[in-house]
Amino acid sequence: MITPELFKKIAKFYQDLEPYLVQVKGNVCRECSCSECCTFAARGGNHAVAEMEFDYIEKYYQKKGYPQGDVEQFKDYLSRRRNEKKELIYSICPFFDEKQYGCSIYEARPLSCRLYGSFFVEEFPIPNRCYFKTIGKKIRKNNSLEEIPLAFQFSELKSEHLGSKIVTKIRSTVTPDLSYLENLDFFDMYRQCGRLLSQEKISEAIECYDEICKKYSTWSFITFCAAADFIRAGHYKEAVPYAYRAVELAPDNAFYRFVLAAACQFSGEFEKAVQAYLETVRLNPQNAVAYEALGNLYQHLGNLEKALDHYDKALKISPDQHETLFYSGAVLMQLNRIEEAMERYQKAEALEPNYAPYHYALGVIYERLEKIQEALKEHETAVKLDPTNAPAYLSLGTLYLREGQDEKSLECCRKAVELKPDNALHHFYYGISLLKLNQLEKTEAEMKKSLEINPSLSLAAVILEKIQPR
Ligand code: SF4
Ligand code: SF4
Repeated sequence: MITPELFKKIAKFYQDLEPYLVQVKGNVCRECSCSECCTFAARGGNHAVAEMEFDYIEKYYQKKGYPQGDVEQFKDYLSRRRNEKKELIYSICPFFDEKQYGCSIYEARPLSCRLYGSFFVEEFPIPNRCYFKTIGKKIRKNNSLEEIPLAFQFSELKSEHLGSKIVTKIRSTVTPDLSYLENLDFFDMYRQCGRLLSQEKISEAIECYDEICKKYSTWSFITFCAAADFIRAGHYKEAVPYAYRAVELAPDNAFYRFVLAAACQFSGEFEKAVQAYLETVRLNPQNAVAYEALGNLYQHLGNLEKALDHYDKALKISPDQHETLFYSGAVLMQLNRIEEAMERYQKAEALEPNYAPYHYALGVIYERLEKIQEALKEHETAVKLDPTNAPAYLSLGTLYLREGQDEKSLECCRKAVELKPDNALHHFYYGISLLKLNQLEKTEAEMKKSLEINPSLSLAAVILEKIQPR
């Protein structure tokens, strides 16, 4: 997906690049009749095209009213996809027009195609008959990005594109695409910052990132990378200033706002996080994860109606996001809208049947609805999937107690105590199940333990009083 604004910006970028490129009259490639550069990827060369450019070509096609789908073929060509007979599907770029002897999407061709002929990275194999072989500027391998005109602007556009994408999974969102940075002279230093961070040498890592950010003080992408690195390493507070700087440099980038919001949220700055998430969804209304995060924050701040509203917005974009279904189910439970909560939990469970908490949550609802057999089934599945799920064991214990299955109840309550011995209720119900089996001494010990942990558990005191010999 590409917004109309970004489409215009990319078109302008390509236009601005023109004066830096070698200008020739006529179709010199036809005269050489080689088409080597448009077969390079098929021959095993590295022909990098940004995701944004695929979207740009797609949109360009739409605008021209051409049939869709050729971009997928282009991707097959670039990735050197093979058929069942292991033969290359495309030995020449599918956009190459044999009749015209040139590129059929010339106006929309990617940056790497535009640069070919005008700039050659050293050691790049240029065919002898290429018209541009002696004309193109040779650039050093480790410095190429700085020598290529407008390369930083291109990187900023790529980041902006990232901000306009539909966001459904948080992991993919904080991992920046660094592939083309490897050609930059400071990449070694950038890696060094990462190493310091992974060794938990935080102040040295900050110094290192600061040095790079200072050197490229107007390049938002690099300060964003620093923020993303700190977030991934779990140092959210340290990520905040870098994220703010990235937002300052590129205020329209929804993706940077999103990263800032996440950094604020995880460092406990909830109000700031809400503001940054609201800005994120204003700039990119397709960010389901930001809506979900807003739901979580509003829930945390006690505004349940607003939380639900934002979960619903997330689900509109991404109806199969089971986490959102689950969280919104929890809010509906708090709002006492049990049937609706049940529906959401059921959907979440159907989407992720091996996740124990969904079974436990459904079990709790069935308990409230007095559907005991259904509740038992859910809690049994929960403990099967996660044998450390103490609440599910306790629920099973109390349900078996109601059903008169005292031995089973005892076993489940004992397990809950074993898993979470600092919970007063676990000891209390274990005591009750022992009482049912007439094990009075043990009952007494458990009631005492539950009162030690929670002296206001009056029912435990009553039972203790009843069973203790006068
Ligand atoms: S740019 Fe060079 S390699 Fe490519 S088709 Fe033209 S002459 Fe051949
Ligand atoms: S997009 Fe155009 S210039 Fe680029 S490889 Fe394909 S045909 Fe050649």
